[in-house]
Amino acid sequence: MYYPYGLFDPTYILIIIGAVITMIASSKMNSTFRRYSRVRCHCGLTGSQAAERILQHAGIYDVSVERVRGELTDHYDPRSKTLRLSDSTYGSDSIAAIGVAAHECGHAVQHQKGYVPLTIRGALVPIVNIGSNLSWVFIIAGIFLSMNQTLLHIGIALFSLAVIFQLVTLPVEFNASARALRILGSTGIMYGEEVDQTKKVLKAAALTYVAGAAAALLSLLRLIILFGGNDRDR
Ligand SMILES: [Zn+2]
Repeated sequence: MYYPYGLFDPTYILIIIGAVITMIASSKMNSTFRRYSRVRCHCGLTGSQAAERILQHAGIYDVSVERVRGELTDHYDPRSKTLRLSDSTYGSDSIAAIGVAAHECGHAVQHQKGYVPLTIRGALVPIVNIGSNLSWVFIIAGIFLSMNQTLLHIGIALFSLAVIFQLVTLPVEFNASARALRILGSTGIMYGEEVDQTKKVLKAAALTYVAGAAAALLSLLRLIILFGGNDRDR
């Protein structure tokens, strides 16, 4: 039997579960970040000063530290070798700010050392950007062309690229945080107790990536249930 692709078919529950997991992780992240934004680090350094010190300590002299607008927009750009810290991180001397700054430095260190998952992730970015948009074009075209299996399967394959990208992101993020915690302790920027508090912040941040990956996997599972099989029996 052939049936049209309904928005609220039973598999939609997978999308809802994914959305709930994502919401829980992001609210946990926000509350942890807010909490440790109010705790000052004994070192008296701001996020940007801590980043400069960490980069120097790691022997990295060709990465510049800049300020970027927004909240939690902090990132390391490997192409321009720029570490961008958001308004709430750049000038703040809180545990949360220095933790985030150190995490971004962790990415700069990964880049310098040629950490393989980061390289794979970087190579996937352009493919995933095109693939994830195209996947829906193929899926919708497949639905309209009487459930054309070839088009649907290409759509699912393209969508799975985005899922692989999310999965490769996990080791990159966990590793950057592990490096950050090690460096913060060994440079004396943070005391042991402060490192533990930072660990909570970075763990909450990492959970949002885990939730994102789980939600993407659930979406993929849904597409496979809906369109992955052979249509002979429909
Ligand atoms: Zn990161």
